[in-house]
Amino acid sequence: MRTPLIVGNWKMNKTASEGRAFVRDFQQLVEPSTDVEVVLAPPFTALESVRSSLGATSRIMLGAQNLHWEQQGAFTGEISGSMLLDLGCRYVIVGHSERRTLFWERNEDVQKKVRAALACGLRPILCVGESLTERETGQTERIIDEQLSAGLDQLTDANLKTVTIAYEPVWAIGTGRAATTVQAGDVHRSIRAFVANRWKDAAAATMRILYGGSVTAQNAASFLESPDIDGALVGGACLNPDSFAKIIAAAN
Ligand code: 13P
Repeated sequence: MRTPLIVGNWKMNKTASEGRAFVRDFQQLVEPSTDVEVVLAPPFTALESVRSSLGATSRIMLGAQNLHWEQQGAFTGEISGSMLLDLGCRYVIVGHSERRTLFWERNEDVQKKVRAALACGLRPILCVGESLTERETGQTERIIDEQLSAGLDQLTDANLKTVTIAYEPVWAIGTGRAATTVQAGDVHRSIRAFVANRWKDAAAATMRILYGGSVTAQNAASFLESPDIDGALVGGACLNPDSFAKIIAAAN
């Protein structure tokens, strides 16, 4: 009932022309399909070249990696949701752990960004996840509940329908040490229970929850076969057209 969603987060990789070359190769490998949604999230500077290379009729969608919560104004270096929408973005990643840890984004900032994304018609992908110390000290559920409470605060049922959650354990990101499907499945179930508790069961049943953290062409199928995992947010392995195409094939 939930269409799988595979998102490639390029992080700070690829120039505009490298983005164009990626799309050229990638489109040879990925068959358009209604069974899986695919989003490319290049850096801001490659959004336009990726969009024009994909072409107007592509089923592959565009996402951004961040946004500012204000619409416009004196915020040097920032990018607003309406600017992203105008560039053809449909999705935006919000509260990625690299934003939280390297750029001091707090839960209240993430909350403003989720609301700003929704207000301009972008679909936020809200990232949550615990650090290794938090996991080892039994705080995983509390940390994720706090991140969800802030990020989803006061959203209506209608808003919630366009929100995706990405569970990305910080210790699994870029480390080659993916969570096990059991570990991921447990957290995904508790995220769904959190949503069911605050909203309606129907909202929880339709919400897509992605796993991210060292997803590869080799391990993707084991995650995507789990009934609790609705897709993947991929970092390193999405930079290569071939390995990203294999991850998408695993979701088909
Ligand atoms: P890796 O796939 O490189 O571990 O990165 C995951 C991630 O942070 C995606 O947003």
